[in-house]
Amino acid sequence: MSTPIVQKYGGTSLGTSERIKSVAGRIARQWRAGYRSLAIVVSAQSGETNRLVAMMHSVNPEASGLAYDMALAAGEQVSVALLSAALEAEGLKALPLLAHQLGIYTDALHARARIRHIKTDPITQGWARGTVAVIAGFQGVTSDHEITTLGRGGSDTSAVAIAVALTAGFCEINTDVDGVYTADPRLIPHARLIESLDYETAFEMASLGSKVLHPRCVELGAKFQMPIIVRNTFTSDQHRRTRIMPQSASDTLEELVVSGITTDRQIGKLTLTGLRQDSAVISEIFQSLGNLGINVDIIVHDKPLGEQSLRLGFTIASNDLEAACKAITELATEKGYTGLTVAADSGLAKISAVGVGMRSYAGVAGRTFTALTSQGIVIHMISTSEIKISVVVDEAEATRATQALHREFVGE
Ligand code: ADP
Ligand code: ASP
Ligand code: MG
Repeated sequence: MSTPIVQKYGGTSLGTSERIKSVAGRIARQWRAGYRSLAIVVSAQSGETNRLVAMMHSVNPEASGLAYDMALAAGEQVSVALLSAALEAEGLKALPLLAHQLGIYTDALHARARIRHIKTDPITQGWARGTVAVIAGFQGVTSDHEITTLGRGGSDTSAVAIAVALTAGFCEINTDVDGVYTADPRLIPHARLIESLDYETAFEMASLGSKVLHPRCVELGAKFQMPIIVRNTFTSDQHRRTRIMPQSASDTLEELVVSGITTDRQIGKLTLTGLRQDSAVISEIFQSLGNLGINVDIIVHDKPLGEQSLRLGFTIASNDLEAACKAITELATEKGYTGLTVAADSGLAKISAVGVGMRSYAGVAGRTFTALTSQGIVIHMISTSEIKISVVVDEAEATRATQALHREFVGE
């Protein structure tokens, strides 16, 4: 058996019949060059998953669970079939595999399932028969045969998990840009392509909103030391790409290195006032949000001077705002927290500068403030860690704030 090669093609790369044929042509050239152990992971065509979400919401705005995942997984099923047929038109034998056929087993958390185990026999047995495996990304199956999905953007994670299961040398993510840039190239046209990134920085960038990679695929890559190569589906230049891999110490070790600026437009904020000074209240609130799978991000907790009660502000994904408000109001009624008020803000964005050794650089917060306030941009919240500084601004200012921080930390 030749070395396993795992390649993922994203939604835009498969967005039209011409593009699917072009991807099939690339795979066929590799096959003819002698690469016989090919596992190709596909996403739904661009826009398709959004269309399926909208269809489900048109019949039930709160659709979730098994039926919801069944609908969303359909987009990848179509892509598997289309690419398989295009490969056959190239004279190759394709083995189309949905998650339940291959055995991509997950837990039962619908819309955010985690992969537990992947069977590889169907792929390797197919290779022995001369087939190319074409596998549906994003979807999984529970031990009870229920269809699950891994969360939006999750086919990157399917691909890295399959690369790990097959002990491939690396996982190739083919997309519509040349790799990971210092900022979203749609917002900053002169952003620079990053040649190589360590897992930690790549994970922060992915988690903080650079959509090019699903955060969990980087997490998996780091856990199993699986190199991830991000490249453009439609270029043949082998050297224009980003490699995500363990980074050896470099001569830049002691310098402030800002790898990139990320932009997340889906930020909501909740402000709770009139909280009693009873530590159980806050932990119960966070617990109830945690039970709903709602991630709490930047937290500001203070006791205004001269007041008896506490104030708590925190950010969450804007599409979790409604569920979070409902959960907190119910909890307040149930526990008798009188005087507690909840205010929700949507229309915010979080801009972050990500790089090694942020905290040991005293000037970072000051430079961030100056860069933004000199442009008249109001900062709602700010948080720092070893590896990033994040600011929350009005969504309408997201592009200008990204540009200002890119200019300040990365350069024009
Ligand atoms: P795919 O369908 O191939 O998975 P995605 O749309 O999920 O592709 O991700 C690619 C997009 O991510 C790019 O078109 C780009 O606009 C966006 N993006 C955001 N931040 C970055 C970044 N720092 N580097 C590269 N692309 C980014
Ligand atoms: N099709 C899914 C989505 O749009 C998964 C992916 O593209 O990775 O979220
Ligand atoms: Mg994607």
